[in-house]
Amino acid sequence: MADTKYIFVTGGVVSSLGKGIIASSLGKLLQARGYKVTIQKFDPYINVDPGTLNPYEHGECYVTVDGHEADLDLGHYERFLNIQTTKDNNITTGRIYQNVIQKERRGDYLGKTVQVIPHITDEIKRNVKSLGVKNRFDFVITEIGGTVGDIESTPFLEAVRQLRWELGKNCFCLHLTYVPYIAAAGEVKTKPTQHSVKELQSLGIQPDMLVLRTDRKLNTDILDKVALFCNVEQGAVMQSIDVSTIYEVPVMMQKQGMDEVVLRKMNMPLGGIPDLERWNAFLQKRKDAKKEVRIKLVGKYAELPDAYKSIHESLSQAAIYNERKLVLDVCHSEKITEENVAETLGNADGIVIAPGFGQRGIEGKFISLTYAREHDIPTFGICLGMQCMVIEYARSILHLKDANSTEMDPQTVYKVIDLMEEQKHITNMGASMRLGAYDCVLKKGSLAYKAYGKTKVQERHRHRYEFNNFYKVQFEVAGMKCTGINPDSDLVEVVEVPHLRWYLGTQFHPEYNSTVISPNPLFMSFMNAAASTRELRKKEA
Ligand code: GLN
Repeated sequence: MADTKYIFVTGGVVSSLGKGIIASSLGKLLQARGYKVTIQKFDPYINVDPGTLNPYEHGECYVTVDGHEADLDLGHYERFLNIQTTKDNNITTGRIYQNVIQKERRGDYLGKTVQVIPHITDEIKRNVKSLGVKNRFDFVITEIGGTVGDIESTPFLEAVRQLRWELGKNCFCLHLTYVPYIAAAGEVKTKPTQHSVKELQSLGIQPDMLVLRTDRKLNTDILDKVALFCNVEQGAVMQSIDVSTIYEVPVMMQKQGMDEVVLRKMNMPLGGIPDLERWNAFLQKRKDAKKEVRIKLVGKYAELPDAYKSIHESLSQAAIYNERKLVLDVCHSEKITEENVAETLGNADGIVIAPGFGQRGIEGKFISLTYAREHDIPTFGICLGMQCMVIEYARSILHLKDANSTEMDPQTVYKVIDLMEEQKHITNMGASMRLGAYDCVLKKGSLAYKAYGKTKVQERHRHRYEFNNFYKVQFEVAGMKCTGINPDSDLVEVVEVPHLRWYLGTQFHPEYNSTVISPNPLFMSFMNAAASTRELRKKEA
């Protein structure tokens, strides 16, 4: 087997240019030519992982199958490549330092002064290479978070510089920059790109390819000019024009020959004819989907588009496969009251109650659930959303007044959601939840079973609290069925109310397991119910 090839993706000029999407698109194109590819993200902050960051700081926290709380870009990698990532795919400065300090305490460097170069850079390089070697990937694409010139990312870039020497042709650097349009001059400007490449060169890294993010088409003269000024081969300067969906980006890059340039420069055969059939079929379906489906997502981070990234993507994939165009409103749970709930949710074809932590906005979720249940609107509760479904049902149908989760009210008499015994003694906040993929056995005939078409499934978790089995019989008698159970711990993972159209909650997060090629079955089933509800309504009107 040939050596693993390493591709580094850096960004310059400004942040938020979409390095993750470019990395994913290149990964997709290489994969489509038959190569085995994975993508890794380096985050230059000192937190050991993003698990303890709130969404205001860092958007959604993504969870891998092996229980790592990860950067949301890993979600893009999985959705684009239809692969599973692990803890090894997301490394922070904090983790690198933690590893080095542990080694120092163990005596691994006995007698030596431990320094950024070589000890930190060696640890970074070890993490890049071990991912490729361990899993025998053809390509490991590593995205370096932040922007070139940031103090924080310097050790990572120094490691890239060293790897270029060590790996030779097996290493490739792609740099993403921004080309602004200056309205007063009526021109696009390449100077920021030139400066950014200079900055990278001053760190000893010569990019092999440039991708220019732009809001309008750049002509060949501009691309050639950038190539000349930045020491990059003509033809290795691509443009990434704003498009209506991130899923168009691989196709846009393919048209410019991105994968061919990379393979040629790395001395790799072009491989088979790129297989993007299913990908393109999805894009075509997206274009063809004209009929709308209106989903309301009730959560407390309504103003933050990245806070529910994976839910949004899963809904949009499921809508497209159901031949619908998703119209998603995120409704601020703190603002929902008895008085305005009808106005807020009345025209919803489906409602999602979001995951979350803490008390803020929780009453709005209960009010939404009562409304959804009484008006029989398809409703999907995810993690905290499922726990809220249970609490609302306990209060309204089981008449357990003030039933609650002990997360919200530790003194409640009716602890319908409670901490597991193992969780009660945990004091550390980092990586101490129930995390990662667990088995779940679905009851035959249930909504969940029908959606998945099988009894044994695996989905990812991120929570501390659980359905309290003490109340299980009471709920079942009152019409809320526990239809998904963990076979090892007997914990309830899915609840549903069969006499309603589609009313289901999952303790797990199915949104982490939905890709462009393989949308999650529960989202598909929910969307199908929402689309039918819309049709029914239209007929009735
Ligand atoms: N706060 C809840 C728990 O810890 C739910 C977490 C979530 O929604 N991810 O159990």
